Amino acid sequence: MKKFARTISGVTPVAVMTQPMKCPGQCIYCPTYPATPQSYTPESPAVLRARRCGYDAKKQIKLRLKILSEMGHPTDKVELIVMGGTFLAYPRDYQYQFIKDCFDALNGEESATLAEAKRLNETAKHRCTGLCIETRPDWCQQEEIDRMLEFGTTRVELGVQTLDDEIYRLVRRGQKVEDVVNATTLLKEHGFKVHYHWMPGLPGLTPEKDLELSKRLFSDARFKPDGLKLYPTMVVEGTELEKWYRDELYQPYDDDTMINLIVDIKSIVPKYVRISRVLRDIPSKFIVGGLKDSLRDIVKQRMRQQAIECKCIRCREYGHRSRDGWEIGEPQLVRMDYEASGGKEIFLSFEDENETLFGLLRMRIQSKPIARLEQENKGNLALIRELHIYGPEVSLKQRDPAAVQHKGLGKALLREAERIAANEFQVRRMVVLSGTGAKEYYRSEFDYSSQGDYMVKSLE
Ligand code: SF4
Ligand SMILES: [Zn+2]
Repeated sequence: MKKFARTISGVTPVAVMTQPMKCPGQCIYCPTYPATPQSYTPESPAVLRARRCGYDAKKQIKLRLKILSEMGHPTDKVELIVMGGTFLAYPRDYQYQFIKDCFDALNGEESATLAEAKRLNETAKHRCTGLCIETRPDWCQQEEIDRMLEFGTTRVELGVQTLDDEIYRLVRRGQKVEDVVNATTLLKEHGFKVHYHWMPGLPGLTPEKDLELSKRLFSDARFKPDGLKLYPTMVVEGTELEKWYRDELYQPYDDDTMINLIVDIKSIVPKYVRISRVLRDIPSKFIVGGLKDSLRDIVKQRMRQQAIECKCIRCREYGHRSRDGWEIGEPQLVRMDYEASGGKEIFLSFEDENETLFGLLRMRIQSKPIARLEQENKGNLALIRELHIYGPEVSLKQRDPAAVQHKGLGKALLREAERIAANEFQVRRMVVLSGTGAKEYYRSEFDYSSQGDYMVKSLE
């Protein structure tokens, strides 16, 4: 049986887990088990899979690709997700080797260097159209940014959790709100997509304060992430938080309160945000307190009862909606502009009259140049951070004319972005941070050429 949900957003996600190593953090809620990457529990499906491969990146990817294709999924467009601890704090050599192994596995052959492996991947059978790395905001400075560019990273998940220095101190998170602001700015300025991990219910918080901070995520231009993973705080066995819980120093919100809070957060999320997950992948036998079951269905049900709609990207994606039996209309071009992290974000999308989303493009206009990119002229810079067409994945060979991915929506979005950049902002050169495996698309179809980590094109 083909499980439809996994490739419904157009690209096949492949998670690959790093070897367990000590994280520089000391967060009181973090699960720490022997022979398991920090923040994971030994029996999580991802850990079990990785362990079976001895945490070898190549073996994990090969196994995953084999299973996915046996299930009938196309595997020519892959989003790699690097999981486990704080990868960017691992020894440098390990990081480079790990990423190179990932590309070698996708390419099906060994390259001499990471740069060569990436180049090979541009036209490989399994192309890496996106690479996601999780990190802490204080491990996301210029040095880490440069390294992530070298790796071919396109999306970064920041462990933000909350937005209050007092709470960070209390839970020994070891970061400040200022780190979140700086990391978010740097990431966007370099063209990355920025997703936040968000933990309602941490010690010291109340549901009211949690909601207020959640609102700040989208009202304060210093934040405005592109995506959000909601991880309600759980008391996991063996953590410092478990002691607090046993000593009655900490009490999680009851299920009903947490569900209402999640509903409230979902109802305020702007249309440019994707909520990709609710609840961590932790087997319930390790959970001592806090919500145990998957929230998604209960939250959905409650939202339906209260006639509240989540406007996030995931809830509006064509693939999910057509599977759920929605009536699908004709795509229209929609534009939304907003200020964020010292620049202007232009969010273009194709939607029907019910706001069902067929595709999107994120473009950022900023005056700040990119240091690693030679600047030909001063003035505004336009940076495409995301171009994504939703719908069931269509393999590169099997061009189904009816499939949304090939309706030319990507082309129309890109053309409109180029037009806006040139006409409204006098931008002379478009810059795209694309996944290694999407570079060929920009090159062959749209006359972009490689420059350093980016694809660029003159708009003159
Ligand atoms: S930063 Fe993440 S992995 Fe490290 S201790 Fe904190 S929660 Fe755990
Ligand atoms: Zn949603």
